[in-house]
Amino acid sequence: MPLSTLANGPAASLASWKGTSVSGGYTTNFIGGEFVKSSTDTWFEVLDPSTQTLLSRVPETTPTEFAEAVEKAQTAFKSWSRASIITRQKVAMELQSLLRQNADAIANSIVLEQGKTLADAHGDLLRGLQVVETAIGATSTLIGDKLEVSKDMDTYQRKVPLGVCASIAPFNFPAMIPLWSIPMALVTGNCLILKPSERDPGAAMIIAELCQRAGVPPGVLSVVHGGIPVVNAICDHPAIKAISFVGSNRAGEAIYNRGTKNGKRVQANLGAKNHAIIMPDANRNHALNSVIGAAFGAAGQRCMALSVAIFIGEARSWVPELVERSKKLKVNAGFEAGADLGPLISPAAKARVSGLIASVEEEGGKILLDGRNIQVPNYPNGNWVGPSVIEATTNMKSYKEEIFGPVLVLIQAETLDEAIDIINSNIYGNGAAIFTNSGATARKFESEVNVGQIGVNVPIPVPLPMFSWSGNKASKLGDLDFYGKSGLNFYTQNKTVTSLWKSEDALGTRASVDMPT
Ligand code: NAD
Repeated sequence: MPLSTLANGPAASLASWKGTSVSGGYTTNFIGGEFVKSSTDTWFEVLDPSTQTLLSRVPETTPTEFAEAVEKAQTAFKSWSRASIITRQKVAMELQSLLRQNADAIANSIVLEQGKTLADAHGDLLRGLQVVETAIGATSTLIGDKLEVSKDMDTYQRKVPLGVCASIAPFNFPAMIPLWSIPMALVTGNCLILKPSERDPGAAMIIAELCQRAGVPPGVLSVVHGGIPVVNAICDHPAIKAISFVGSNRAGEAIYNRGTKNGKRVQANLGAKNHAIIMPDANRNHALNSVIGAAFGAAGQRCMALSVAIFIGEARSWVPELVERSKKLKVNAGFEAGADLGPLISPAAKARVSGLIASVEEEGGKILLDGRNIQVPNYPNGNWVGPSVIEATTNMKSYKEEIFGPVLVLIQAETLDEAIDIINSNIYGNGAAIFTNSGATARKFESEVNVGQIGVNVPIPVPLPMFSWSGNKASKLGDLDFYGKSGLNFYTQNKTVTSLWKSEDALGTRASVDMPT
């Protein structure tokens, strides 16, 4: 298949950018500070999901190349872990500035490879940039503890890096999720090997180039591409101390089990099914707009998408208006002005989502708005599914599975208690939201609902990076969360020093064999 010529428009800036990290249509690895073409004979195709145009080829990194990346990282760790905190902070500050200056190129890459709208792609980067910005504060957040435990004796505890760590990213946030790990790992003195999604690696490659320009030394950050073999190599390599994973339950459970069995720390953010409860006393306009935006934005390919709505009592009469408003959203390629949602990532994702919409009727539910078979002018080959609204029950496949597409599932409940029970019975625990004008109702909801991230009149309550990500139940494996205080703890271990400084004449003259007290 010929490579896209990327002749004009926003794509042109990406084409010129790709001079470094994509050579002759082949996405390079980034090992030891060099952008190098893999010698593999196995390549994944990166396709524009609006057109199926071939954008680049991504390597299944060979075992020798992977081993070299780890070796370079081990060597780099010796000096990077000893670089002063001010040096590491300065690199993070420079990276922050370069990310801002190059936001258009990163966002363009995301639109082209992932398909989301341009405004949404800028949001993808911004949420990652905010992690870089909080990482700059490491000069304060890494301050340790010290106590004078007795006369002449002090104990102090400080956080030290782990060594070589790895990050394995999903396709749906090509900038934000690599940036959940890169600044946190690097500012704490670790070296990081990033494996982006093989479906849209462009943003990660631009970020790697910016890290290099920001002063990240060779080997401190590496990027290796690939699928399951490279992931397994990460889980098995004895020099890799920790793995940050974000993606599906299938992959995450395998990585968590394999990585922890090999003695590594693993943090894994997994799938979701996020519910919204709409109470009759809610502001109708705000509630409907919030649910629609959070269900269909990014074509539903967000782990915090609101994919289930439960309208209580009188609010149930708002459903026809919800459907009418959803119909008006514009499905189009991400660069097109006015696009509200873009395509799904692949033809396979489109087939899967369409099958789940079909399944609701087969199981006795109803399709209120059907986004299958929509046509998008000028883009006959895109992976299009339009906003869809279906009525299901909790035993149906479309409710039980994570759909990861623009499909809102309506579930019936008579009371708030019943709705909370439904949420608590769901295996996932990423997020949930309530729309109400009653403080008491909101308080009851947040106290009784068992999910990690709760919105009160807020549809996608993703914590800012001064807090930590906090999904629970089947939406997460591992004890230490991404970014925030928990993220700092994930990428560090404690070192505790107890010291005794007494004048020569005050030191004892015979050995004590008792346990010191
Ligand atoms: P995915 O699991 O298919 O891929 C994620 C990464 O794992 C990729 O780098 C891929 O190469 C690798 N991988 C894929 N299958 C694997 C396997 N069997 N063994 C080992 N590695 C494997 O996920 P995706 O489709 O790219 O992303 C969508 C999923 O990610 C959704 O389930 C979504 O909810 C989840 N997600 C969760 C969060 C969160 O914070 N909870 C955030 C974003 C996405």
